[in-house]
Amino acid sequence: MKKEDAFSLFQKVGMPVLGGWALFLFWKETTRALRSRKQPRTDRLVMNGKVAATAAVGLRLMLIPALVGAATYTQKRQIGLLPRLPLPQSLKTLVAFLLLDYGNYLWHTLNHRFSVLWRFHNVHHTDLDLDITTAWRFHLGEVAISALYRGGVAGLVGTTPGTVLLYELFYEGATAFHHSNWQLPYQVEKALSKVVVTPRMHGIHHSIVLRETNSNYSVVFSFWDRLHQTLRLNVPQQEITIGVPAYQEAEELTYANLLRLPFTSIRSWKLPSGEEPDRPHIKRPIFELAR
Ligand SMILES: [Zn+2]
Repeated sequence: MKKEDAFSLFQKVGMPVLGGWALFLFWKETTRALRSRKQPRTDRLVMNGKVAATAAVGLRLMLIPALVGAATYTQKRQIGLLPRLPLPQSLKTLVAFLLLDYGNYLWHTLNHRFSVLWRFHNVHHTDLDLDITTAWRFHLGEVAISALYRGGVAGLVGTTPGTVLLYELFYEGATAFHHSNWQLPYQVEKALSKVVVTPRMHGIHHSIVLRETNSNYSVVFSFWDRLHQTLRLNVPQQEITIGVPAYQEAEELTYANLLRLPFTSIRSWKLPSGEEPDRPHIKRPIFELAR
């Protein structure tokens, strides 16, 4: 598929499907909420809407061109990993999906490990509630840096513009899903979480308890966390406080302050009282999904 055809399909079919999926999730989290909310929903829509609008500029002008540009370059020259593998096209698409997703798992862990990256990713984590609006609450700087990284990964994989754009739709759809505050039936989510990242699983990643934040980094497929032993499922959702401990005041998390946040000094992982949030030992096995 030509670059123009792939992009036009992404725009004309992919984006409306993604929009419909987001509306469906919005309705589900309205009628079946998973965690109780701290902030009024309209305030959240306005605030995260503003941050998302800024991020969308980076997504359209930097991230998508980086992904498509890298894939077009490698496809023309038949370079990168996939052209060297003697596999049918359908299997190559599957391998590309897995490698792109694994690249994003690694990228997410790097965002938590290196302070220069955390400065930007922190904006996403300072959200005091977790719902579908959080899925697009990213600082423009994070989108810009990730465009370089993700473009680089697409180049190394050596896939096609059609495949990177199709993966991007799954990536955005999965991000919307696992940030949503939708209370899925427990048994359904338990089964789903073995393959994909689910709202309860990602809710633990947004906890103010550090070891819980430093787990569950996967984006689409959940098995990368199992593979790297960063999976943690045993924390009940109603016991989770969402956010970053040193940034718990809604009044200071204004749009202007969020844009400035990466360029201010990083506060240590402590509550305003000076204590580090912790939780008594949970008896349930770490890989067993709690309600
Ligand atoms: Zn994170």
